[in-house]
Amino acid sequence: MHNNKRFKQILCRIKKKGYSLTPQRHEIIKIIAEAKNHPSAIDIYLQVKDVYPMVSLNTIYKNIAMLLEMHEIREIRTLQNAVRYDGDITPHAHVICKNCRKITDLPFEDNSNNNIPEIYVNPKLRKRYGITDYSIEFYGICDSCSAIKNKHSYSRFLPISA
Ligand SMILES: [Zn+2]
Ligand SMILES: [Zn+2]
Repeated sequence: MHNNKRFKQILCRIKKKGYSLTPQRHEIIKIIAEAKNHPSAIDIYLQVKDVYPMVSLNTIYKNIAMLLEMHEIREIRTLQNAVRYDGDITPHAHVICKNCRKITDLPFEDNSNNNIPEIYVNPKLRKRYGITDYSIEFYGICDSCSAIKNKHSYSRFLPISA
């Protein structure tokens, strides 16, 4: 979905719920809806601070909590216990670089079912637990990190006098 469309969609749902739309909240939602890098709360805070220097970290957390409760954002917890946020709530998994922690979207091969991918959940178990959310993370090394790694391992074999 186009990010501007996503931004407007969240704004619309906030208004429908009767929540106030302060300029800071507007900015927080814009940043999350447009972010491609799955930002942390601190990342969002620093971006909002650029526009509204008086904003508090507490305001960021409060807005994140509201958006999570409305299911307008997803929480990604990495193996390092870092929490990152995703304004894209369409079904997809993530691949996380073990070196630089970059998070990249990983679309499902079969995206015909616009819900929890059935293949991952036994229907009985799904019903018994009333499963509503999921989070699928894969770990590896991203392109730029493996390029650096290859360069370094190559230079180890260069003659010392060179
Ligand atoms: Zn990397
Ligand atoms: Zn994502």
